Amino acid sequence: MLFVFLACSGPTPLDTAPAEIPRGALSLAFPLASSAPIDQLVGVDHDPTVQQGIDQLICTNYAEQGFPWCYDEHHGSDYMLDGGFTAMDAGSLEILAAADGVVVDIEDGHYDRCHGDLDGVNCDGEPMVSNKVVIEHQSPDGPHRTLYFHMMKDSVSVAIGQQVRCGDVLGKVGSSGNSSAPHLHFELQGPQDQVIDPYAGPASQPETWWTEQGALEGYPSSQCADSD
Ligand SMILES: [Zn+2]
Repeated sequence: MLFVFLACSGPTPLDTAPAEIPRGALSLAFPLASSAPIDQLVGVDHDPTVQQGIDQLICTNYAEQGFPWCYDEHHGSDYMLDGGFTAMDAGSLEILAAADGVVVDIEDGHYDRCHGDLDGVNCDGEPMVSNKVVIEHQSPDGPHRTLYFHMMKDSVSVAIGQQVRCGDVLGKVGSSGNSSAPHLHFELQGPQDQVIDPYAGPASQPETWWTEQGALEGYPSSQCADSD
């Protein structure tokens, strides 16, 4: 159903399209095991127009596809957990650090069974707060951040200030916060907090930020870049 894809928020509502930035030294591994049972990518919107109502379905992803491959003003890449809450209850999926870095923010302990209904997202009366991890990555172009949202309650397995390596487990996929179904919202931000779509494509930057982007409607490689 359509509304399932419409409720997911990053931390910073922006009123501009994602920045088109040449890839720096940062190289990202896919933040889930690439063989994991995930459903489609709901990606970053490259259309700068802010829509209202039903027109929130108007969007352009990196490959110039529209809804349901994106939705208006979406600033991250959503990977939907195949099997929804049943799969989450069966152990869910581990979320992995996309690159080496330092944990700069976490949130945990919040209700993780928020779900979509006809009014939007319903957290059954619990506060709509996302469990999350934010990692800062140093690069020659300045610090970048990767953000991991909507985690399972009490699954965050890192602490603020902790050094992590690419591939380290950060937590598990859940449905906390403004989330209509279990999924990972993965977001990349540049040194000026600008949203960057890691995917290369005709509506995005020409060079991918993934170590390997993979085929359209496939998934990037979870192979980490060479690191020291
Ligand atoms: Zn999202």
